Amino acid sequence: MVSRLPSRILHVDGDTFFASCEVALDASLSGRPVWVGGGRRGDGIVIAANREAKRFGIRTGMACFEAKRVCPHGVLARPQYDEYRRLSKEMFQIMEDYTPTLVPMSIDEGFLDLTSMDRHVWRDTTVSTAADYVNGLRDRIQQELRLPVSSGLGRSTWMAKLATSAAKPGFVEVPPDREKEFLADRPVGELAGAGKRRERMLAALGALTFGHVARLPSTVMKDRFGIWGQQLWLFANGRWNEPLLLEVKDRTTISSNTTLPYDEPDYEAALVFALSESTRMIGQLRREGLQPREMSLAIRFTDFTESAAMHRFEHPQFRNSIINAVLEELFAEVMAGHAQPVRQIRICFSNLKPLDTQPTLWGTTDAERWGALDAAMQQLEGQWGDSAVLTGAQYALRHQDATHSNPKPKCPFVPAREMAQKLWGEKLEQLSKHHGAIKKR
Ligand SMILES: [Mg+2]
Repeated sequence: MVSRLPSRILHVDGDTFFASCEVALDASLSGRPVWVGGGRRGDGIVIAANREAKRFGIRTGMACFEAKRVCPHGVLARPQYDEYRRLSKEMFQIMEDYTPTLVPMSIDEGFLDLTSMDRHVWRDTTVSTAADYVNGLRDRIQQELRLPVSSGLGRSTWMAKLATSAAKPGFVEVPPDREKEFLADRPVGELAGAGKRRERMLAALGALTFGHVARLPSTVMKDRFGIWGQQLWLFANGRWNEPLLLEVKDRTTISSNTTLPYDEPDYEAALVFALSESTRMIGQLRREGLQPREMSLAIRFTDFTESAAMHRFEHPQFRNSIINAVLEELFAEVMAGHAQPVRQIRICFSNLKPLDTQPTLWGTTDAERWGALDAAMQQLEGQWGDSAVLTGAQYALRHQDATHSNPKPKCPFVPAREMAQKLWGEKLEQLSKHHGAIKKR
């Protein structure tokens, strides 16, 4: 689906969200350096610091005692996640008033479709420009919730997000004909989801900025990075326009996103869990007659920082033995240089192809024999149920933590309504019902 009209996609992101929430909840903190401390007792690592605190050099990931040392008069707040979720919900309720299409991405971040607003909303009204409209939205969130948000407007979600980073704090619009110029000197690593592995591959081609990417031959980008490479090349050249998609109809990915019951300091246990998740997902894909060409792994640590990596198979893959071996490599890459406990594990298989391989029972190569084993296991599970055959990883896991013994079926992508359910524990439709109450304030 390509719309000829340039998309106008707005990205809205809370500034230092958790720290801002603390100030919103307690007016006496206003103007003072405030940081939110992680760990069960709030004495672990800084997970958010407001602008006043950042002036003292306090950063996410810093130990709380260190923050106190560099800024003795600052305030350490213990995280109040229930309150953050409530404020988040109210923030999205306000955003809903400004667009028919809203896609929440995280607790303080979402995309709004403003395409064709200039023809239908901004024309013949007192609100005459995109900047007026967006600043109106930002002011309302500031006034009603006392939360500062920044935003960026562009022709794609990628552009909108980069515009927000450039704007912080504030608002930046990148008009379609200025995209290439806007991107030219920006490091390509700023792109959400680029990943360390791709960044390294791009650097090897001499491409550190979007400007460098734009000057590479498009065929090189396509050969090295597939569809993503083509998209990046068009984007860097200011030629990428995409509609904001709300839902994905056919399965194009399968993903699993699990917050562990406790932050796991044992990386081996985290790997065991990742392997068992991957095995479960590949089983699901096989039942649907699909096999992935790409996989990615993202780990979120205690302090909410993230590390991610992806792999593209030479051919679509369906064998657990091969896929899990690659997953182990990705895991090692993602964890390198980290020491914090693991909070969340995200695995995604994408670029799905139909599964047309019929593995022979007795193969002549190692790969074929593994394939036969996998297929036999699949058949046994089909006959006796999911728990009939456990991989070593699954077996180890069951003994480690009963929480994981009954994995829920997972959904491809996270459409808006599921994200709403996850973030606020409510259905998306119900968000609108609270509108009256919010507006009365
Ligand atoms: Mg934010």
